[in-house]
Amino acid sequence: MKNLCLLGSTGSIGRQTLDIIKRHGNYKVVSLAANRKIDILEEQIEEFLPRKVCVFDEEKAGILAKRLKHNSIEVLSGMDGLLELAGDTENELTVTAMVGMIGIKPTIAAINAGSDVALANKETLVTAGHIIIPLVKEKKIKLFPIDSEHSAIFQCLQGKYGPNGDYSSWTGDPLIEKILLTCSGGPFRGKSYEELKKMTAADALKHPNWLMGPKITIDSSTLVNKALEVMEAKWLFNVNVDDIQVVIQPKSIIHSAVQFIDGSIIAQIGVPDMRLPIQYALYYPERLPLDCGRIDLFELAKIEFDKPDYNVFKGLKMGIDAAKNGGSICTVFNAANEYAVGQFLNGNIGFTDIYDIIEFCMDNHKNIPEPCLNEILSAETEATENAIKFIKNKGFKSYVRKEAE
Ligand code: MG
Repeated sequence: MKNLCLLGSTGSIGRQTLDIIKRHGNYKVVSLAANRKIDILEEQIEEFLPRKVCVFDEEKAGILAKRLKHNSIEVLSGMDGLLELAGDTENELTVTAMVGMIGIKPTIAAINAGSDVALANKETLVTAGHIIIPLVKEKKIKLFPIDSEHSAIFQCLQGKYGPNGDYSSWTGDPLIEKILLTCSGGPFRGKSYEELKKMTAADALKHPNWLMGPKITIDSSTLVNKALEVMEAKWLFNVNVDDIQVVIQPKSIIHSAVQFIDGSIIAQIGVPDMRLPIQYALYYPERLPLDCGRIDLFELAKIEFDKPDYNVFKGLKMGIDAAKNGGSICTVFNAANEYAVGQFLNGNIGFTDIYDIIEFCMDNHKNIPEPCLNEILSAETEATENAIKFIKNKGFKSYVRKEAE
């Protein structure tokens, strides 16, 4: 039995992680952290009996503490609570499934505590890949991707050409010519920029293939998610951004592929079900049974590919440019988007305003090539402030009204 710390247990990835553990065992859930969904967390506590839990929202943490029947279970809150959970040296695997840049510090704490990490929080590598990967090497822990595309690439490398989870002596593989990062194209594939302007949060939340949380579903509709994944792939597989090609494959059957120097391409194919990458990360190098659907190649008949339209999906272009530059501009790209998506989900701004906000924040940032953690967090604050400034200057009605309340 391995001790498992699960950060972000009530979200989509967190719940599926517990589902997988229930099927295959081998893990003792020692700690769980959630943002504010204490009803779901309470059920998870009853079932898995962790030693400690953290509710990020302080008020909700207080409510949960009073409700719990097991007084031996410690209820913590805030960033301090997250860091205490993640920094426990008895953790053997930490699953980081929280949404957003909030995941950076706990991920660093987990690595410092010597725990292996199954990474579902892409913001960590996007903003701090230059800190995380060297730290992973230094602490000799294992790092497994949960993001479906990166799990696919990891599977294509078959533990032979890739980092094998173990980065301690891995410096990249010259046999990898190119990473083919697939993308469904989202619900607005084929639309013009003018049409995109009219899209609402309800339209954007209808992803054609994947069931995911709201933030990532919006990111998938803007293709910002794919830009973040380019950054993630760059760090995980030690490749140049120019050697990562985004390929639209609308049905999300091919989850990504690797092209080798002899021209051979190895792809990972399967139904779009996040439990597969989660299970692969948790039980690597074993391949265990999973009752997800099966691909019927005869029914599938043909697989379509397309190039992304960088003029329409401007977020993808801006993100890839940021990835090429590296440095704090990646944080600005991510933080501006994170803020803008929140405003879009609340109905305060329009769909393409997300792109305009990212552009404004990037234009107003002086890039720092290798930012330290404090500089990363300052870049986040700066981007958020600039995003607010942009929204105010534009005079979005609902935003002003909300602010006055
Ligand atoms: Mg993905």
